[in-house]
Formats: sequence, C-alpha cells, structure tokens
Amino acid sequence: MASGKILVLNKKDLGKTNFEDERAAGSVKTGQTDIEYEKKRFEDALLSYREETETLASSLRQKTSDADAAILEGHLAIAEDPVLKEEILRIISWGRSSEEAVTAAFSAQVQKIGAIKDPYLRERSEDIKTVKDALLAKLAGANTMPGSEDGSKGCILAGNEISPFVLAASVSEPPAAILTERFFSRNSHLAILARALQIPMVTSLTGMLEVIRMSKNRENMICLVNGNTGEVILDPDEATLRRFQNAQKDDQPGEKNSEASESEQPEAVPVHFYGNIALPAEASAVLAAGGEGVGLFRTEFLGKNFDNVECYEAAAAALGDLPLVVRTLDLGGDKIPEGFSGISAFAGVGDNDDEGNTRGIAFCLAHPDLFKPQLRAILQAYSKYKNIQIMLPMVRTHLDLVKTKELLDKCNRELYGDDAPPLPKVGCMIETREAVFLADILAEEADFFSIGSNDLVAAIAEEERVSFDPRSYQYDARTLAVLYGINEAGKKAGIPVCLCGEIAADPLLLPALIGYGLRNFSVSAPFIPELKKKARGITFEKATNLAQEIFSLPTPEEVKEALQKFS
Ligand code: PEP
Ligand code: MG
Repeated sequence: MASGKILVLNKKDLGKTNFEDERAAGSVKTGQTDIEYEKKRFEDALLSYREETETLASSLRQKTSDADAAILEGHLAIAEDPVLKEEILRIISWGRSSEEAVTAAFSAQVQKIGAIKDPYLRERSEDIKTVKDALLAKLAGANTMPGSEDGSKGCILAGNEISPFVLAASVSEPPAAILTERFFSRNSHLAILARALQIPMVTSLTGMLEVIRMSKNRENMICLVNGNTGEVILDPDEATLRRFQNAQKDDQPGEKNSEASESEQPEAVPVHFYGNIALPAEASAVLAAGGEGVGLFRTEFLGKNFDNVECYEAAAAALGDLPLVVRTLDLGGDKIPEGFSGISAFAGVGDNDDEGNTRGIAFCLAHPDLFKPQLRAILQAYSKYKNIQIMLPMVRTHLDLVKTKELLDKCNRELYGDDAPPLPKVGCMIETREAVFLADILAEEADFFSIGSNDLVAAIAEEERVSFDPRSYQYDARTLAVLYGINEAGKKAGIPVCLCGEIAADPLLLPALIGYGLRNFSVSAPFIPELKKKARGITFEKATNLAQEIFSLPTPEEVKEALQKFS
C-alpha cells in the first residue's frame, strides 16, 4: 500500500491542458519572425533536458552504480543525435513550431527503425519515443525525469506507460507506487522490477490521466494505492485518507527475514533460494533477504555498462563465496536497453534481413563485436571472483552453447595467453520450445540448467510474452509437466536445475514444485523470506503426494484448489 503526491511523468500524457504553453498544441504554424524564437525554444529545451539528465546521472553514479547513470546517458545521446537535431532545426526553418519539428523528426526515425526486421532494433524505437516525449514535455515546461529537482521519491508515478529503465534509474530515490493506463503483464520487465524494488504497481487504469487532467487539484493531488487489490483513490477526502493510513500501518511487514535455520524442521526437504537482480547494487539486498546467492543477473539492464568489469566485480564481491550467475545479454521482447543507443557495435545491425527474429544468445553470436566485450569483462571479473558463473538466454540448440564456449575460449586466450585459466561454469536457460525438446542433449553440454518460466510459459501458450498474463498457465498441466521433464533431464545428466522465472515466486505452487523434484529457486529478493518460511514445513512425503495428486487433475482450477487445500 502507498500514498503520496501524484507525479505525471510526462505532462504530454495529460493532453492539451490550459497550464501548458499554447504552443504545445503542436499544430501551430509559426510566423517568419518566430523562426529564431522557435529555434531558441528548442535549444533551451534540449539544454534543460541535458542539465536535468546530467544532474540525475551524476547523483545516480554517487548513490548506486554506473549502470543506472548509463541508462540516462543513453537517452541523452539520442536527444543530442546531430542528424536528428539538424532535421529538427530544418523543419523549424520551414516555419513550423518546435513541437511539430520534434514530433516529425522523431516519428520519421521511429518509422525507419520500425521497418527493420530485427526485433531488438524495432524495440529501440521505444527509446526514441521516450526521448521525444521528454523533449515535448520540456517544451511544455514540464519536469520529466524522476529524481530531478522535485524528485520522484515518495511520489506516485503516473503515466500512460512507464519505461522499466526510468524505474531502474530512480532506484536510489524510488517512487512510492506506479500507475499506468496501459496494461503491463506480471511478466513485463516493469512489473518484475517494481516487485524487486517492492513498489506497488497498478496497470490498466484507463481514464486515469483524464481524471487527473480535469481535477482543479491536479498539481498537488494526493493518491492512495493498494497494490494488492488494485484499488486507486485519487484526491481522497479526509476520512478516506485516515482510514487508508490506518490500514497502511497494519500492512507494515513484520519480521519477514527470520532465519530459516532457527526453526528448520528436520524432515523438511532442503531447498535453496537465490535472487534475481538487474543491477549490481541489488546483490546485497538478496543476502539481506536470506538468499544464498544470485541465480539470475539480467545484464541487459546494465545498458551501456554491459562490458564494464566493475559492474560484475561489484556484484560478485558483495556475495562473498556465494554464486553469481551472470546471464549474458538478452536483447529483444520488452527489453529496451536505452543505454545501448550510443554503441558503435550496433551501427548497421538489423540491416541484413537474415538477422530478423533473433533474440538472446542467437543475437549475441551474430554480433561478436557486441558479445566479445561482455564476455571479456565477465572473464576479467572471474579472474578475481571465482563465484561467477555464466548463463546463456534463449538457447535453441546445443550449438549455441558450443559456439559460445569457443568464443569464451578465444577471449580467454586473448586476455591471458596460452596459460589462460579454466573457464567459469557455463549454464543454459531453458525457456524456448526447442530447448525443451533438446533438453537431454543440452544437458550434456551445459554445466547447469535454469528454467526461464516467463518466456517458457508464453511459448507453451503460443502467446506474445508482453501482453500475456502467465497466471492463466501457472497451474496448467502442460506447464507443470514441462517443468518436471526439464528437471528430470537435468537430474539424469547430473547437473543442477534452478527455476528463475516468476512462477518460482508463487508460494502456493512451491510445495508441488518441490514434489516434482525442483530444489533451487531464484526470485526477486522480496519474495525470498516468505518462500523460505513456506519451504520449512514441506516434507518429502507431503510434497510427493501433492505432486502425484496434481498430475491427475485435468484443469488449472482443480490444480489451484488442490494447492489451496494443501496450504
Ligand atoms: C524468464 O524468461 O523466465 C526469465 C527468467 O528471463 P527474463 O524474464 O529476463 O526473460
Ligand atoms: Mg527469459
């Protein structure tokens, strides 16, 4: 639950309001005499955007890691792209307003990229839209970035949509809650990140921005959010506010991180919980929550810092001897790494039709100029921190593993010569249909498996991951049978298997998963204490009986009912 002042990230989301500059209407044609004025307005907006972004980036650098700052710098690189800037000034010189020029130039760029088949580059158009909206908001006199002067700390961030990277950038001064008009699935990266940071989030709030826009109180509007029930109250009266604040007090988490060992029941099945992280600074939060290491480091969130040795060293050092599983770049889907904009290795990527539809490891293998610097950085960090392991995303064939190991070997020799030390362990994510079919073969080549249930469940359902609600498949016989089968393949080959998708964080399902033989789970830090507590009461006999019962149930509803009865 959360309460706070509403902060609409992008005033453009509020439409044409009477507190915006008249010129923000976007269709105003400027008279000849206004051309210089318009150019100056645009330059001022750009400068203000630069100052705001630089201030925020440097404060992020002091408070957390370079990776957060790099995300914003990537934004700035787009805003100051000389080709775009020249185009905007050219359109203004035709007598158009700054808003029209920014809209036209950025939209043309988005269209151009959207026409390219490569899914990663298509997704990059989202970065450009974000920067366009930020510049338009600047022209309208709005403050766009969380963490800037009036800050997002303690505010309820509202918008039509919010980029997960904006949230990642506000990690040192997080908002109290997030509200979006657009639907974001449980598995979207925005939702995953919000859960990791324990920020309540409610989506699909159609009409919210209109209500805010129509309110006289919009500049100081208080909002109450209950992330559990999805209830959002804008501009509450005194009595509602008091009632909510009392409920909020009752909702305070108790002693969530009581150590498992204290009351561990001797007959409980031993299971291990690890953390999913997106930024190095989160590694210590995993330990504080009682995690036994990091089972998934989503390195695409490092943005431009994906090849920065220090990021890997910082996370590895924070964990002591506990494992750090570094997943190599997984680009595509709803992952929109703004920090990549300025990377020369990306120039021309996607121009080739054959590159369409690649994601994860296939994309990286097709772009060694991009992949090698990351592998080198991980290997350099591994030379100091032996708790690092490498994991490959979206593997489809054993050749993905073979080729990556060859490349790793090459990087290792380039770095350390013929006496290069042995490579770290290399594991494989099982999250594509092909990987499920080939699990036995992959198990021969991989040092460990990690099941990415977010992508896997969407693949089983044959749905687009971003707009798909995985909960409808969480208790589906197909999902459960596939999880069981992958674990068996790992067991047969004698390699560890971890479950690192969001399904792992469902306490209701945990006893059944233990019954299917799963022993390792990697989840966002806030889920660890509750799951550990739940696991304490699960004996081998109880879990096996439950798994057997569930296997014979034909519908997800019946499975859920059986799980509820068990709990
Ligand atoms: C998954 O797909 O379940 C997973 C853990 O990876 P990501 O969510 O980053 O795709
Ligand atoms: Mg995945």
